[in-house]
Formats: sequence, structure tokens, C-alpha cells
Amino acid sequence: MANVIVVGSANQDYVMTTDALPAAGETLLARTFQKFPGGKGANQAVACARLGAQVGFVGAVGDDDDGALMIRELRSEGIDTSEIEITTSERTGMAMVSVLPEGENAITVVPGANFTLAPERVARAVERLITDDSVVVVVVQGEIPVESIAASVVAASKAGARAVVNLAPFVELPAETLQAADPLIVNEVEAAFLTGYVIDSSARAQEAAEDIARQAKSAVITLGAAGASWAVAGASGIVPGLPVAEVVDTTGAGDAFIGAIAAMFTEGRELESAVRVGVEVGALAVARVGAQASYPLREEVRQLAG
Ligand code: ATP
Repeated sequence: MANVIVVGSANQDYVMTTDALPAAGETLLARTFQKFPGGKGANQAVACARLGAQVGFVGAVGDDDDGALMIRELRSEGIDTSEIEITTSERTGMAMVSVLPEGENAITVVPGANFTLAPERVARAVERLITDDSVVVVVVQGEIPVESIAASVVAASKAGARAVVNLAPFVELPAETLQAADPLIVNEVEAAFLTGYVIDSSARAQEAAEDIARQAKSAVITLGAAGASWAVAGASGIVPGLPVAEVVDTTGAGDAFIGAIAAMFTEGRELESAVRVGVEVGALAVARVGAQASYPLREEVRQLAG
């Protein structure tokens, strides 16, 4: 009985903290190493569940230790994992993450099993997870095949659910998939691909969101420390970022934001109000290490406490 279905990737994150990134041909010594469960889909599912939503996850992992761990971690968050496929053809996806001293990160993803997630399977899985009228949001991102992103959006609209599409990493989607996104969520880099805008001011961020909202049903651009801009037909705005005493690790901040927005939609919030919560959750996430490990519980979010 989910009210949010997340269709997407589950990766094992191999995270190094390091002073610099190696150039081609160079070898550097990192400071620390840790493994964390990650992947944009799994991250968003966890962020959403921690705020109290009933989340079902649709994805694929390999028949290996990392895959079993991914499933266990999601289950421990109360997420329905019955629609995670275990494939023998590919390993569980992985991400090599380097975290630099200022908290910035550089990531290379090996998609592995995530790219075996077929559109027909997505359609069936979303259908199976919808047992009544309770599913209000389907969330999908760019770390699975394009056809499966499109299939998620079609399945959402068939079920009368809201399709939240996070175009990360940037992929070319069919126009009808973009048009159904409500909202289409991107960061500044992806927004530049979609609009041609260089986002160098709040005014530009708002204009870019308005431009994206014309390609979709609504739009959100996450702006790092500057917060996020949003737009729907006839309205747009900026929610400023919240000050963070020490930015420790920005990995998965965007996913925290998206999971929060999806959770807020299940509570009937409008876009701007959902974005306000997303911005606070993003700020909490950058103050702690890791992706999922850094996501707050509902009680920790000032706007949701009490
Ligand atoms: P990532 O790929 O690292 O997950 P992203 O580029 O998708 O990140 P960002 O725009 O960096 O997403 O961050 C998402 C949200 O997190 C922002 O909208 C903002 O609310 C919050 N955030 C990110 N960085 C900071 C920061 N330095 N200070 C305060 N809030 C931040």
C-alpha cells in the first residue's frame, strides 16, 4: 500500500575522501574510504520514507552481496522491495564517489543491473504496487533506460498518479514524457542543457524554471546553496537556501530534496510549499556524510516538527 512509487537505480557507493582528483595517468592517495548504499532512485526512496511516506521501489540489482545489501537497507527503511528484480546478467550498480575538502564531489557510475530494468517490467510493477487509490506520486530519474523512464510516466498517468521526473543525469526524453512531468526537476547544469540558459543570478534561475515549465507541467531547479527555483503555468519563484554551518558532503543532496518533495505531495502540499521543505531537507543532508546516511527523519525537519 504505497503512496509513492520510486522507479530507479540502486547502487553501492564507494566513497573516498581525497584532497584532489587525479589527472589522467596520475595516482593519488585518498584519505578515507567507506561503502554506502546509494543510487538516485534508492536515495530518493529513503529520503521520502524518512519523512513518513509509504514507499514502494521498482528497480533491479545483481545476484550478489551488494544487491542483497541494497534490498536489506531499503527494507530497513520500511520500503516495499517486492518489485526489485534480481538479475543474474549484471552486477549491482556502483558509483565511485570522490569527496573533496569543500564537500564537492566527483562521481562515476557503473549502471550494471539498473540498465536491465525493462519498460514492460516497470509498467507491470507499478500496476502491481497500486492496490487502491492510495498511490499519488511516481518518481523516476535518469539512471535507468530511457524507455523505462517513459514507461514510468505512462504508468503514472494511467494510475492517475503525479509523475515527478528528475532528469539526472541528463538524458534526451521524448517530448510527451517531459510534458507529463509534474514537476520536471533538474539542477543548474541539467537546466542549462534544457534551456540554453547560464544560471548566474536568481532572476535567471526563475526564468529558466519558467522556460522548463513550458516544456513540462511544472518545473523545479535546484541551485545548491542558493536553494531552488520553481514554476507552474502563471506562477514562479525562488526559495532561498538555508545557511549551513559546515558543508560536510553534498552527495545525494538533490535526491534528499526530491524525496522530500514527493513526500510532501502525498500530504497535499502545493509545489512552492513542497520546495520549501525540500530546501530544508537538502540543507540538513549536506551537513552530514554520505547520501542516505545523511537524510533527516521527519522530527528533524523544522517545518514538519510538531
Ligand atoms: P547532488 O548531485 O550532489 O545530489 P544536485 O546538484 O542534484 O546535487 P543541489 O542543487 O546541489 O542538487 O542540492 C539540492 C538542494 O540541497 C538545494 O536545492 C539546496 O536546498 C540544498 N543544498 C545543496 N547544497 C547546499 C549548501 N551548500 N547549503 C545549503 N543547502 C544546500
